[in-house]
Amino acid sequence: MSDQSTETFDAVVIGAGFAGLYSLYRLRNLGLSVKVFEAGDGVGGTWYWNRYPGARCDVESMEYSYSFDPELEQEWVWPDKYSKQSDILRYANHVAERYDLLKDIQFETRIKSAFYDRDANTWTIETTEGQKVRAQYCIMAVGNLSTPRVPDFKGVDRFKGDWYHSGLWPKEEVDFSGKRVGIIGTGSTAIQIIPHVAQQAKHLTIFQRTANYSLPARNGPLPEDVRAAHKKKYRELREQAYFTPFGIAGYPPPEKGAIEATPEEREAKYHEKWAEGGTISYLFSYTDLLLSEESNKTASDFVRERIRDIVKDPATAELLCPNDHPIGTKRICLDSGYYETFNRDNVSLVDVRSAPIEEITPNGLRTTKEEFELDSLIFATGFDAMTGAILEMDVRTSDGADMKERWKDGPKTYLGIMVSGFPNMFVITGPGSPGVKSQMILSIEQHTDWITDCIENMRAKGINRAEAEADAEVKWVEHVNEVANSTLYPQANSWYVGANIPGKPRIFMPYVGGVEAYKKICDEVVEKGYEGISLSP
Ligand code: NAP
Repeated sequence: MSDQSTETFDAVVIGAGFAGLYSLYRLRNLGLSVKVFEAGDGVGGTWYWNRYPGARCDVESMEYSYSFDPELEQEWVWPDKYSKQSDILRYANHVAERYDLLKDIQFETRIKSAFYDRDANTWTIETTEGQKVRAQYCIMAVGNLSTPRVPDFKGVDRFKGDWYHSGLWPKEEVDFSGKRVGIIGTGSTAIQIIPHVAQQAKHLTIFQRTANYSLPARNGPLPEDVRAAHKKKYRELREQAYFTPFGIAGYPPPEKGAIEATPEEREAKYHEKWAEGGTISYLFSYTDLLLSEESNKTASDFVRERIRDIVKDPATAELLCPNDHPIGTKRICLDSGYYETFNRDNVSLVDVRSAPIEEITPNGLRTTKEEFELDSLIFATGFDAMTGAILEMDVRTSDGADMKERWKDGPKTYLGIMVSGFPNMFVITGPGSPGVKSQMILSIEQHTDWITDCIENMRAKGINRAEAEADAEVKWVEHVNEVANSTLYPQANSWYVGANIPGKPRIFMPYVGGVEAYKKICDEVVEKGYEGISLSP
């Protein structure tokens, strides 16, 4: 495409998930011309792609939604306590239509590269089809779990049956009736898929490498009085959420550590939380579950006991008991009938830790010990999390900065929002932000508000370039690590540290100091005149 045809905007946003939609809304309201690119053919990001059976949010519906417009939150009706994927996608579409966002979004377009020219102070964004646009600001709203990963098993291409990745699920319903189905993975996704597919399939074989902790959701229709009561206090609750660790209101903070309680007290508390359902509630049993191994063990032991209670076959129960990480150091899974599913005659669990998968065969799968005949195979094998989507693109600058090179030893950001050497590029909930450790939509709004306020301030003062200072970035990365190392989080081999991707540098990526602390830091940066950010005309 010739240079003359390169359209120019004030800002380009990459991604039309919840972050992209809100960025468009805010930037447009500032009076900027904005172009959004989205790979899918609709809005919704993670909720557009993850259409697998059983897909549901693990944060309660009344919290997991936008807060920017009180009218929107009053008019929208969430049917369930925890929303299913189709309801969240319906909501994303409603928001896109209600605020007339669709006209600025170009769908079915993947971005190949983003190039910053320092002399011209512009970003040139190029699509895989060769279309180019220019903009002063580049907003990466690319998501943290948006690069699905199918492990490079030998033989996938020779498999004669159908195979699916949870994060690239077809729009049409997949019918597993009468089929011998295999699923690889037992993370949050698989734990949601398994009870559904087990009800359809002739036989479901679950290939588990690492057992995870899962808690009951106790999901159900949201009673009208609960919804109404929440709506009555919505403004107050939204405000409160910013003063919590996970950005979720309504959970009274715990008052003491687990080891300060008597064994009887603890047992009663964990039972109460188990009966209530939900992950935050359980983690909020005591103050020190993510800080003290001894305390954590009491909460981990309790879940292992419940697994042994539920799963009738003792060998299967033992295999399902997580034993390689403290509870909560990986994202806790939330399920509806997961452990109960293992009591079905048509379900079997295979340990691929002791006998790893060797190859996918034309008729199934072979481990080092056994061969399995399968008609369909589901990969619930996760994502190249937090950095995958940015590094998939070629992001560079005219003075030689290259994002792949810059992040080769792990991602480095300032506040999880900016990267030194890449001016006027803003990342929404990037590595180093509490995004994935919080109610994601709240973090998206907080980041986007911060970014748009920064741009508004720049425009008011005739500043054209904002660039994170290298020193400030180093200090932020040190702080993120220091906070993580004061907790039990780094003990788990999770996607938080890139452990699920062979060869990925092991760095703790999310900020785990909590939403409240993070927001305070972001606000202070602004109060100090955008401390750590070099602003130039
Ligand atoms: P994940 O947590 O990374 O789990 C991937 C699973 O695949 C793990 O059990 C992993 O085993 C297994 N696996 C990967 N490669 C394998 C191999 N070569 N052989 C055998 N097993 C292999 O991914 P996910 O379940 O998609 O979840 C990712 C994140 O998405 C969650 O942590 C959560 O934040 C989010 N999520 C949220 C919800 C919700 O809101 N309810 C639902 C789904 C997902 P290892 O553990 O041994 O690597």
